[in-house]
Amino acid sequence: ETLLEQARQQVLGPSYRPDDLIGATREINTALQSLMNQTPAGAAARGLAELFLALLRMIVIPLVFASLVCGITGMRDFARLRRIGARAAAWYVTTSLLAILLGLLLVNLFEPGVGLSMPMALGEVDIPAPSGPWEMLLSVVPTNVVAAAANFDLLGLIFFAILFGIFTLQVDEPFLETIDGFFQAVFAVMMKMTLFIIALAPVGIAALIARLLAITGPEALTSVVGYAGTVAAALLLHGLVTLPLLFWLLTRRNPYRVLGAMGATLLTAFSTASSAGTLGMTLEQLEDTVGVKNEVGGFVLPLGATINMDGTALYECVAVLFIAQVYASANPDFVLTFSTQLTIVALALMVSIGAAGIPHAGLVMMVIIFEAVGLPLELIALLWAIDRPLDMMRTMINVWSDSIGATAIAHFEDAIDESKLFAPEREDGSY
Ligand code: ASP
Repeated sequence: ETLLEQARQQVLGPSYRPDDLIGATREINTALQSLMNQTPAGAAARGLAELFLALLRMIVIPLVFASLVCGITGMRDFARLRRIGARAAAWYVTTSLLAILLGLLLVNLFEPGVGLSMPMALGEVDIPAPSGPWEMLLSVVPTNVVAAAANFDLLGLIFFAILFGIFTLQVDEPFLETIDGFFQAVFAVMMKMTLFIIALAPVGIAALIARLLAITGPEALTSVVGYAGTVAAALLLHGLVTLPLLFWLLTRRNPYRVLGAMGATLLTAFSTASSAGTLGMTLEQLEDTVGVKNEVGGFVLPLGATINMDGTALYECVAVLFIAQVYASANPDFVLTFSTQLTIVALALMVSIGAAGIPHAGLVMMVIIFEAVGLPLELIALLWAIDRPLDMMRTMINVWSDSIGATAIAHFEDAIDESKLFAPEREDGSY
């Protein structure tokens, strides 16, 4: 109480207006800021948030490598591998496209950018150089595997791990057994380690959210509230209606039970804003709680965490059209044609595949679409201010699509352990 009071006096000074919402939110924001910066408890919360993130990231590289290699070597069967790969690709593309179209529909319906004046100073943002399709393709092949791992270049690492798994299947028995056994063992150890980190999740998530509230000021939220609301509404619809419906149509299983069972994972995705960082938990919970066997999950999930991003795809589409609406309001010459919108749909899909599963990756990739459509790059600043909360939401949807997609594929591969979530005696939905 007194600390809060002190912080309020110190930071807010005479301009503090307690009677409006922004004033009140700013008060909480600044109080949290100084609590985080100046008290031992705040330092501890910040430390815990960093620690949780570091632990999650620590397990990613060995997990991705081990789970892909033993996912492939354990299958021993090329035809099956190809089938799972094809099904995964079909799920990724279909759900991402559905997400984009939903975003397109809502942003045209609500028109959050029409008539909006540009509320903040532009040009404060460092804009990264855009990369073309060839660069993106080339970046999949790592020139140095160790460097790819060290730089958290997951796409490169996955490429090598898949090749490694496939060629392990070509070597003679004793070697194949050794490599398979070794990576199964590494994977088992990494899963145990993940379980230990999951125990820290409640504290880690709370600390991350406190840190977020301390960082994000209320102005960022209020100036573009229509845009943020459109993204949020579309993401919710996609996560709660489209994906569950598709899953149900394919499997006739209850999707909301999977949703409930993956709660901790989705919360972690939300608070870390990183699909890659959440991967350990996704693998663990989907296997242990839902019962998706590792032969499917171990292969489909690392791939999905890196290239299947429904939330990001949807977000790219809504964000670009929002900016186009803002820009068109100020420049009547700029017309958003139907074919431009089609280009945006295609690019949103491509960008969501290329974006890494780390915070703000989707925003950085936005540059590609801006360039293609002819929007001034400075306008990205508008999106920057509110990106963190939107990033958290889209990451949650990214991970949700990976999880429910892996469950659907496991259903077709007969790779669901029916004694777990879908056991007949748990028909009531308990797990
Ligand atoms: N943060 C997202 C993820 O990790 C990617 C993005 O920025 O859209 O899934």
